[in-house]
Amino acid sequence: MTDIETIFFVIALQQTLYAVAWGLAGSLLALSRAATFHWMGFCLLSAVAPLLGFLGEVVPRELARGLGNLSFIVALMLVRRGIAVFLHQPSRDREQAVLLVALVALHAVVGFGPEWFVLRASVVSVAVAWIMVNAGLSSARQIRSEFGSWPAWIVSGPMLAIGVAFSVRAALVLGMPQAVGTSVSSRTDFNLALLLSLVGLSLMFNVSLAYMVVSRLVRKLNYLSRHDSLTGLLNRRAMEQALRAEQRRWLRFGEHFAVLLVDLDHFKRVNDSFGHAAGDAVLKAVAQTLVQVARQVDRVARFGGEEFCLLLPHTPGEGAELVARRVRQAVAELEVVWEGGSIRLTASVGVAACARPEEPVSRLMMRADRALYQAKAEGRDRVVLAPAPGATLPASAAA
Ligand code: GH3
Ligand code: MG
Ligand code: MG
Repeated sequence: MTDIETIFFVIALQQTLYAVAWGLAGSLLALSRAATFHWMGFCLLSAVAPLLGFLGEVVPRELARGLGNLSFIVALMLVRRGIAVFLHQPSRDREQAVLLVALVALHAVVGFGPEWFVLRASVVSVAVAWIMVNAGLSSARQIRSEFGSWPAWIVSGPMLAIGVAFSVRAALVLGMPQAVGTSVSSRTDFNLALLLSLVGLSLMFNVSLAYMVVSRLVRKLNYLSRHDSLTGLLNRRAMEQALRAEQRRWLRFGEHFAVLLVDLDHFKRVNDSFGHAAGDAVLKAVAQTLVQVARQVDRVARFGGEEFCLLLPHTPGEGAELVARRVRQAVAELEVVWEGGSIRLTASVGVAACARPEEPVSRLMMRADRALYQAKAEGRDRVVLAPAPGATLPASAAA
């Protein structure tokens, strides 16, 4: 076996292994399925392409090489399309289909014989360069903004490098054909360098595609672990983290903060009268209302069911009470239209402001909860400000 043939086998083996890995990622782990299946197709076709030349008697050598070229082109089109799908960019199917049809037509017209090698090799090289440079340029900016600079370089860089290498090949085919030989399997220094760099670039490329898939998954899991799936607000765990961070700031810098516990009044009636789906729509509308009332620096969470929590940094008790009144009023003014009917509701709010540095967050939340309980007991649709720790709750609260 010549060294070029050995490299062909290495490429085929390497691409087959990557294809298996993408297949497993897409089917078993359901990771970015559409994109990973495109990349599996890319790896399979680019594994098949270098092997076609070895079919020997089964298929005429030149026909096999021509088919190898076309499958390499389709492989690159798949990788480009997979990246576009992954990055939610336009897939440019028409453009790629026109190019493919043109290349197939060219091969059909001129055949696979050596007399048209220069034309075929230069056109195929220009097509490869065009696909790769376009894929590299259109993905680089998007990858940088989502994943950072180095993944952008390591994914888009190999595509641009392949684009440049095949542009050089096209120029050599026309100007210095002896450097290219009669096919990519001719043993020339240029072909050796080209094939060896394809091995390295493919490794870099597949590893960084995998990095992007995994890092998107990690980000998604991180988001899901911190947000409520119905309303998109923070969940209880994320709010508890934020509360602890706020308390550290209070200890370190003496910055006041306060919490509001908001519970919808008689929410069960909404479900009973309009159905659970209407209840969900109301919860979403209330969540939006709370976000609108809150400032940018405030945190809004759904604690569960129809209970919400607002964390107000840099806010003493009086300020928090004011925000609570605005929340109560905004919920009272909210009208959710559901199947022709109108749903209105009210909320009770318990407010607690940090008072002593040594008070744990759990105590602060307990005070807010007691204030909320008192608001409910006194008839709902009202705000109760929790007294400082040690003091007792006032006998009544104002709406
Ligand atoms: P109160 O004024 O005392 O707070 O009365 P309430 O009816 O609001 O409170 P209760 O705790 O009795 O009922 C809360 C209801 O919220 C019961 C439950 O079915 C409903 N609920 C909890 N989570 C969801 C949800 O995700 N979607 C919907 N639609 N309803 C929910
Ligand atoms: Mg309630
Ligand atoms: Mg409740």
